[in-house]
Amino acid sequence: MTSILDCIGRTPLVPLGRIAAGLPVPVLVKCEHLNPGGSVKDRIALAIVDDAERRGLLRPGMTLIEATAGNTGIGLALVAAVRGYRLACVMPEKMSIDKRQALAALGAEVIITPNAPPAHPDNFQNVARRIALEKCWFLTDQFNSEANVRVHEETTGPEILAQCGGVVGAFIAGVGTGGTITGVGRALKSRLPAVRIVLADPVGSGLAHWALHGVVGPDAGYQIEGIGTSQPPSILDRSVIDAVESVSDAESFAMVQRLLREEGLLVGGSAGTAVVAAMRVAASGITRDPVVALLPDGWDRYRSKPWMMAFS
Ligand code: PMP
Repeated sequence: MTSILDCIGRTPLVPLGRIAAGLPVPVLVKCEHLNPGGSVKDRIALAIVDDAERRGLLRPGMTLIEATAGNTGIGLALVAAVRGYRLACVMPEKMSIDKRQALAALGAEVIITPNAPPAHPDNFQNVARRIALEKCWFLTDQFNSEANVRVHEETTGPEILAQCGGVVGAFIAGVGTGGTITGVGRALKSRLPAVRIVLADPVGSGLAHWALHGVVGPDAGYQIEGIGTSQPPSILDRSVIDAVESVSDAESFAMVQRLLREEGLLVGGSAGTAVVAAMRVAASGITRDPVVALLPDGWDRYRSKPWMMAFS
């Protein structure tokens, strides 16, 4: 071990021994919340920085900039600390004060933008792009980064295959950037042509309709964070998705409570979404092999949210 960055990845895969007990096939969960920064995004933070270093784009002391309020910012903060970079995170003002404080505590410069739609110059992604150009900072750009997909194709996917002894019936994940489902989907399909890759999408997201029909569906509000969108990200490969399960906020939150209390899995909302979808897939009889869901992040990011406060 040379630093905490060596602890990124190689996360456990565990069966849901209690809540999936009555189902015809096992449901296994990939515990990405156990990464050092508490989320799956540690993998891409390290991969994007490694890739930029290999291409000679980064020198110690330079500043990384990302449009993020959450997990990617925390992952990048760990990498920046160990590798000697500065980090700036651009976030819209609607994001919680907890997130601002967390990133500031980790040493990041936090730049707040007005809440503005994607086409507006004040939108947080456009502001990040503009500052990167003006100040010659390195835009990590998770939504357009091929390194994001590649790290899942080369690590998360092969880990799942090895942990399952090469037998996987279906893989279920939500989509934020699409890096996880695209990379893991490709890795699994290259070895197991019959594996089913299932998108777990919040009710209200326009992505499920896009995955099925190629046209974004109507966009309504939902509370689950980090997944679902009205704008399919460029790195999301629609051809890896075989099926879609739409999951309501209430179903996702109820599942998080069960994961906490019945399985000891201290996870966030989008993990609930993935597990609800995985349980449906396992019950449907479409495969006789184990079903795998990915748990993207931990519960600590949501403890002050009304939905989690309602558990106590
Ligand atoms: N869950 C949470 C909580 C996330 O922050 C993200 C990433 N935005 C995801 C799921 C989806 O991962 P990906 O970006 O690889 O599609």
